[in-house]
Amino acid sequence: MWIGIDDTDSPAGMCTTYIGAVLVRRLERAGMRIVDARLVRLNPNVIHKTRGNAAVSIEAVGDPATAFAITCACVEALAEFDDPRTNPGVVVAAVRPPPDFYYAALRDFCTVEEAVGVLESVGACYRGYKNRRGLIGATAAVASDLADRTYELLVYRKREVWGTPRQVDRTSLFHAEAATYPRTWDTVDPANDVVVCVPHTPDPVLFGIRGESPDAVREAGSFVLSEEPACKQVYTTNQGTDAHLVPGTIGTLREGRSYLVRGTVAGVPSTGIGGHVSFALADGGKEVRCMAYEPTKGFRDVVRALVPGDVVAAAGSYKGESLNLEKIGVCRLADAVRVRPPLCPVCAKRMTSAGAGKGYKCRACSARSREAEIERVERRILPGWYEVPPTARRHLARPLVRGILAWEAEFCN
Ligand code: ATP
Repeated sequence: MWIGIDDTDSPAGMCTTYIGAVLVRRLERAGMRIVDARLVRLNPNVIHKTRGNAAVSIEAVGDPATAFAITCACVEALAEFDDPRTNPGVVVAAVRPPPDFYYAALRDFCTVEEAVGVLESVGACYRGYKNRRGLIGATAAVASDLADRTYELLVYRKREVWGTPRQVDRTSLFHAEAATYPRTWDTVDPANDVVVCVPHTPDPVLFGIRGESPDAVREAGSFVLSEEPACKQVYTTNQGTDAHLVPGTIGTLREGRSYLVRGTVAGVPSTGIGGHVSFALADGGKEVRCMAYEPTKGFRDVVRALVPGDVVAAAGSYKGESLNLEKIGVCRLADAVRVRPPLCPVCAKRMTSAGAGKGYKCRACSARSREAEIERVERRILPGWYEVPPTARRHLARPLVRGILAWEAEFCN
């Protein structure tokens, strides 16, 4: 059977993955066998999310009615019911729903009624609390199809220290990354000298380590020196897979979806207020504004190095009529040239314009020339893929260290 839960936390505390970890233990105590615990990220542009739009599903062997009773009791005991934005959902399905609803919740927007339709079609047990919105994520998690998967070791804090500063030794996190990268990633951001895996919110998570296999994340976790944890859970996840991206065409992008698009840089990238960098990307006579926000740090230098005529593949969410960049593939570099008046062939002084269409004139000796000086400018980037740093990476974005997907590479041919 597949058990799904979602929408249990609030900005003031709790975390659906923590309830998932507690639930795994309660199901085991009831004699059930746990096959898999999944942390499933859904559409990152959903406005109702508390933080990273996560939902949890657990695959287990046992009696569905008993599992349903245990899961409801667990959610009722731990969810942040007082917050008006917390609307938990619980699902237990003996027959797994087809993955379509997962893909819809991952890449688009869904309704509670659609989730209920899916649950009814497979005869699942379900309970939606308050406005029942959590049924969307719980159903999607149960229906999830993780063709590509990664893992996260989540380590949780003891209840008595929730809300207090986390005690995690910084140096040990850098050691963990150095010893296990590229089998693990995003524990720290070495280029920006920042710890990434320790949250700052008042939830029960102490730290989380992401990687390619359960062994890799456990090995990295063994390097970390910290306060005594309450418990640990390794989740199978869709994080770091680009599962949220679909191929897009400039001019037909829909708000709140995430795309990979190909186009030609149509204007010189500019840095605006707050250090955000933007440029226009064009294809088929249509344009989209691409944004690299200030938190993307050094990635903005890559964007600033683009010039009109470069052909790029751009990945990100389309929000507020901008594509918020997660990575770009530089497919073809345009010849960047600087056109300026030539040097005078007589006295070697720089000539000046003699007027529109009249060529150039030397102010020193009055010599004339028709030809401008055209200088090829050395480009500061090479063709290839570039990504935002770990500190700015979205949960679903595939780190380049995991490679580019075949369909993404096609975009940059
Ligand atoms: P939590 O740890 O509780 O899961 P979160 O940041 O993941 O925190 P939620 O509190 O779960 O966010 O809020 C997200 C809400 O949006 C949930 O009710 C979920 O069912 C719903 N939701 C998720 N994906 C979609 C979608 N694609 N369309 C509509 N609603 C969605």
